[in-house]
Amino acid sequence: MSPDAVARHPVPPKRILVTGGSGFIGSHLSRRLLAEGHDVLVVDNFYSSSRHNVVDLLDEPRFELMRHDVTFPLYVEVDQIFHLACPASPVFYQRDPVQTTKTCVHGSINMLGLAKRLGAPILLASTSEVYGDPVSHPQSESYWGNVNPIGIRSCYDEGKRCAETLFFDYFRQHALPIKVARIFNTYGPNMLPNDGRVVSSFIVQALRGEPLTVFGDGTQTRSFCYIDDMVDGLIRLMNSPAEVTGPVNLGNPAEFSVLELAEQVRALVGTGSQVDYRPLPSDDPVRRRPDIERARQLLGWEPVTPLDDGLKRTVEYFRQALAV
Ligand code: UDP
Repeated sequence: MSPDAVARHPVPPKRILVTGGSGFIGSHLSRRLLAEGHDVLVVDNFYSSSRHNVVDLLDEPRFELMRHDVTFPLYVEVDQIFHLACPASPVFYQRDPVQTTKTCVHGSINMLGLAKRLGAPILLASTSEVYGDPVSHPQSESYWGNVNPIGIRSCYDEGKRCAETLFFDYFRQHALPIKVARIFNTYGPNMLPNDGRVVSSFIVQALRGEPLTVFGDGTQTRSFCYIDDMVDGLIRLMNSPAEVTGPVNLGNPAEFSVLELAEQVRALVGTGSQVDYRPLPSDDPVRRRPDIERARQLLGWEPVTPLDDGLKRTVEYFRQALAV
């Protein structure tokens, strides 16, 4: 890092572990941390991520990539831990649901144990799924959720709820410095084209001139946060004062129906793709929108990228990735 960069640096350089660091959010986060001058160790088992997301970083001396599954203990020396490792799209987390729960629970126990030995701050990438199919709208952190404990989304929803429990028990029992972020739907470059997520699926389908698969009648809503905004929120949360443990909602409060999203994608790609209505998967939440007041007040954070701008950049990424 140049002396100039050091002078501008908000916090002294650290050794930072990013579990799941070659995934969609992890790869963007790792890049930002490297750009800020830190050493970054990415640990990933590549179950739902791609080495392509970080392959260009391998020549960077401050970057290290390690294949490891967080359900097994990890022995490394770092100053900070971003714990993101877990399949996060319904298609991936439902493929091997037992392993998903293990990743959430055993993975968190292992990373919390590591953080405890090191006395290192650890941030959990939790999820809006802890609210289940919410009856309270928009969702604030004080809402306890409406989660089916035995459904097809439970491995992830209950897994992440248990991970949050573990984080707060390590905080109470061991005074571990923890941070819990509840991440709402996030999109942008580096998403996998086959992850089944609504944004990536619609863009890929539109670019290929295929019908856009709308589940149910498309009136269910989501709030879509562009990746750069999400990374900014995660870093702010990690560097917030010790008393800020969270949970903190991170997401874009602008709410759209799935059909509205389909329309925007069709207009941006300029495709004649029709809409193909498919059955709604069980336990698919009807409405989702974050209340981000806590993030605004504690972190001075709110998303700045409108859906239209973020979608344009994401379409451009997929156009090149798919070479269409
Ligand atoms: N969805 C859809 N078509 C698709 C993929 C998803 O209509 O091809 C819907 C899905 O049923 C859900 C919303 O889009 O209501 C968001 O789905 P996603 O898998 O992106 O995220 P999550 O359900 O975890 O919020």
